[in-house]
Amino acid sequence: MPTARPDHQRRLLDLQARDTTIDRIRHQAAVLRSDPEIAAAQERTTQAQAERETAQTELTAAEEALAAAEGAVEQVATRIARNQQRLDAGTGSSKDLTALQHEIGTLSGRRSELEDEELTVMERVETAQADLDRTTGSAAEATGALGDLTTVRDGRLSELSGEFEREKKARAEVLADIDDAALVSLYEKLRSTHDGVGVAPLQGSRCGGCMLELNPKDLAAIRAAAEDAVVRCEECGRILVRS
Ligand SMILES: [Zn+2]
Repeated sequence: MPTARPDHQRRLLDLQARDTTIDRIRHQAAVLRSDPEIAAAQERTTQAQAERETAQTELTAAEEALAAAEGAVEQVATRIARNQQRLDAGTGSSKDLTALQHEIGTLSGRRSELEDEELTVMERVETAQADLDRTTGSAAEATGALGDLTTVRDGRLSELSGEFEREKKARAEVLADIDDAALVSLYEKLRSTHDGVGVAPLQGSRCGGCMLELNPKDLAAIRAAAEDAVVRCEECGRILVRS
């Protein structure tokens, strides 16, 4: 049976307490980093920004279509005005003037059609602008919500980081007190195979690690063992520290 100074054995319980805290901090940080709420907010933000991009593209296309429609109306209006001027001047044969008048009639019909098309395109621009306004609002809202969640999480992570550093420092101090490589090595080995708990106090007749009652024979043997004997729980195998 390995031996270790009784005060070193008792200090091992302090090391366990620090390690348990460090494990908890690591776990909490991992949970925060993989927060499903933030992942969902991130996804909503990405989607809202993509919808805004689509709306922006449509508005640009609609505005280009409107400019083209306005240009087409203007072109016909210019031709009508030019023909009207020639008609008003009254120069040319009556046959020419009749032809001019006929062309003005045709062009006016064309202008009316083009103006209808222009109105349709104006409605398209209005719809696109409304979509852009709406999606811009949604994107800003999603981005803001994500930012709020991230700020809270980062604040909590920062607190945990501070707590972690303090615990690590405290653990190093405890480890320096123990100064027994064989005992610490046994503890670490047990910790790695026993859910992070390598040592436990003997609480009455119960193991503080697995919480099982020791049978009277084992208990008697533990009580009879030398003070510096490193005893183990017969049930779970953890180091048992007698107080
Ligand atoms: Zn046990």
